[in-house]
Amino acid sequence: MYQHLALYINGQFLDGQGRQTQAVINPANGSTLGQLPLASQADLDAALSAAQAAFKSWRHSSPMDRSAILRKVAELSRERAQEIGRNLTLDQGKPLAEAVGEIMSCADHADWHAEECRRIYGRVIPARNPKVQQLVLREPIGVCAAFTPWNFPYNQAIRKICAAIGAGCTIILKGPEDSPSAVMAIAQAFHDAGLPPGVLNIVWGIPQEVSDYLIRSPIVRKVSFTGSVPVGKQLAALAGAHMKRITMELGGHSPVLVLPDADVARAARQLARFKIRNAGQVCISPTRFYIHDDIYTQFVDRFTEELANVKVGDGLDPDTQMGPLAHERRIPMMQKFVDNARSLGGKVVLGGEQIKRDGFFFSPTVLTDLPDDALVMTEEPFGPIAPLTRYHDLDDAIARANSLPYGLSAYAFTQSLQAAHRLGTELESGMVNINHFGSSLPETPFGGVKDSGIGSEGGTETFDGYLVTKFVTQI
Ligand code: NAD
Repeated sequence: MYQHLALYINGQFLDGQGRQTQAVINPANGSTLGQLPLASQADLDAALSAAQAAFKSWRHSSPMDRSAILRKVAELSRERAQEIGRNLTLDQGKPLAEAVGEIMSCADHADWHAEECRRIYGRVIPARNPKVQQLVLREPIGVCAAFTPWNFPYNQAIRKICAAIGAGCTIILKGPEDSPSAVMAIAQAFHDAGLPPGVLNIVWGIPQEVSDYLIRSPIVRKVSFTGSVPVGKQLAALAGAHMKRITMELGGHSPVLVLPDADVARAARQLARFKIRNAGQVCISPTRFYIHDDIYTQFVDRFTEELANVKVGDGLDPDTQMGPLAHERRIPMMQKFVDNARSLGGKVVLGGEQIKRDGFFFSPTVLTDLPDDALVMTEEPFGPIAPLTRYHDLDDAIARANSLPYGLSAYAFTQSLQAAHRLGTELESGMVNINHFGSSLPETPFGGVKDSGIGSEGGTETFDGYLVTKFVTQI
């Protein structure tokens, strides 16, 4: 049994009734899992009205009540993690353990927001006149429109929903049509947790049509998007034209620096494991590798060996370490990166091709000897491809790492405290991980700089994008 698919508007699950539908495909074998109902314009209007009406009371709800609902959602997410995870594997492809892990970590995100939403404080500014009182209030911004992608469907949606709802906003979220089950499960969890109708609304449709309609609506005051840089720029421009607040979590192209004093075997093992996570379809995936000359050959050998041993298969098979790509259109994209590297003199040390079986599988791929202007070195591959290059001088490696317009995450392996400090300050990136992978925890801010985005999710910063600051002075 796969997840029941519906729209969720004003507290009601809506399907059928003459709506257009879109097939949901299992990327491990190409079979059809279900039909997703798409929102009509009347549905979008209903979602807007419901969110607008619900905001009138939700904005004044007690933070304790909001907290209790978020806590309940955390509890339900943990209870249902196996079932939600199985559906996520079916429609997205990631191995079941990764899928269940995503749901469990999202329960922690809901718990974090449940705690933090009780601490959204304003302040009192001492006045020049003792009779005057000066208050700074932080108020919910209003109705939010959010758009989330298919690579971490539960995570990306629940972070936006918890931040909006915890802040006292209402929200309309368009989830990923390719992999919708996780977002449906979130709607069910909030419904069962007793969220009042209209506070959360879930819609599906043609992405551009839905985002265009919602962002232009005067009811919407805030836009939050996770996805690619080009789409993010389009949505940010439209939001700007209508003077709406934005949070943009966009693509990355994470540089990895392995210094000569690093523990090479450990770095190679950890980087290989992280590279194949979600088949490389991770915005903070390690992407461009700069390896010091002295350890280059050793690193290439160890890293390639690790990737060569990865068991690729259906995510429901307990032995699988890497599943398929989430949809068919990713395969020609992977091939384009490999072909381009080859045409520029790059060597394919491992993989480099689609795996011949049903579904959308691409082999873990290692490329070497390619120039810095190869496509895979400049555009986000979003797949299991690792280009390995050499460096000699750290200044040069840092300059190369900072040379792209992206700035989401960066990685470095070194045993030198001095070098670690320098990398932590000089890498132009929203997140810098040294000797381990520690981003994406509920209590730490997640977000990019440069083309990789605007704003942070998580950490104590998580509500900033959903609140407006008001100054009240009285005598
Ligand atoms: P895409 O750019 O068409 O879509 C990316 C996501 O944005 C999808 O979820 C899609 O539904 C949504 N989207 C697209 N156009 C939209 C619009 N006008 N309004 C609202 N939402 C819209 O590409 P794709 O083939 O689905 O994914 C490939 C690329 O997207 C990757 O190469 C990667 O760069 C990027 N991506 C990034 C993330 C991330 O976490 N930052 C997640 C998924 C995809």
